[in-house]
Amino acid sequence: MPDLPPNSTRPLEGLRIAIDPGHIGGKWVTWDDRHFKLGGPDSLEVREGEMTLMVAKILRRDLTLLGAEVFLTRETNHPVTKERVETLQEEAKAYLIKRGQVPSAGLIASTAKAMFAISAEIRARGELINNTIRPDLALCLHFDASPWPGGRPVFRSPNHLHLILNGCYSESEMEEDDTRFEMVLRILQRLYHEELRLSDTVSKTLQHETRLPAFGYDGTSGMSVNDNDLVWARNLLANRVFFCPVLFFEPFCMNHQETHARVQEGPYPGLREINGVYRKNLYQEYADGVTAGLVRYYREQRQKKVSSAHE
Ligand SMILES: [Zn+2]
Repeated sequence: MPDLPPNSTRPLEGLRIAIDPGHIGGKWVTWDDRHFKLGGPDSLEVREGEMTLMVAKILRRDLTLLGAEVFLTRETNHPVTKERVETLQEEAKAYLIKRGQVPSAGLIASTAKAMFAISAEIRARGELINNTIRPDLALCLHFDASPWPGGRPVFRSPNHLHLILNGCYSESEMEEDDTRFEMVLRILQRLYHEELRLSDTVSKTLQHETRLPAFGYDGTSGMSVNDNDLVWARNLLANRVFFCPVLFFEPFCMNHQETHARVQEGPYPGLREINGVYRKNLYQEYADGVTAGLVRYYREQRQKKVSSAHE
């Protein structure tokens, strides 16, 4: 964080913020599996990669007005990586053989697909963040979804919110050379405490804005780290390979009835009545919860510095 005095109208002055709209949109949604259709035949398809980009653009406008320099890892619904499923076939085959699996055509195809949409894409964004943007923090924007057993999307309850910070490495993850190396790099950069303080503050303003209850893990795939039930540790590729404090957001279940209805409403101006309550559109509400938390956090940090300088 740059050493600047508190500023009442531009509290984020001097900060470089990278925003990573999770997933890909457009014709790429089918490679990514974060899209589905629920409700009647006229209902809009829910596409996480396009929804996160909408939130990212609102945040860019608002955080810039508050003094930050904001960079998006993608401006469009196009992938950042130059790799494609076709270029990753050999690598997918080699990966399967290394893990002792029989590289059948079906398995190669599904592995290459995951390599494209997850590892190649997120690593390309990581290079952009680590080598070009070099931000003070990164915001990874996502929407959550509850699992649908049997492969057919269904509405699920409850709706919920959580933030994820890096941690909770499993034994099999620790066996991967890359993962272990990246974990050590992260430890040496001493990002954890700032990531936790930021996640803690922003989770509370986001909850206040969205009115969502906390989501809980069972302690194996995610670990609680403090007394805030909105913040969980999980080892994800993005929060491991982005070398800056990462705020990883998972608000709103896309297959919850109310979230789905709000997606259908789109980015309307002003307020609309949703289940008896007047609310902003889904994307603005998400962005406002994040913005309020960042303003609170950096105001407090800068105020502390001023106070300690006067002691
Ligand atoms: Zn996501």
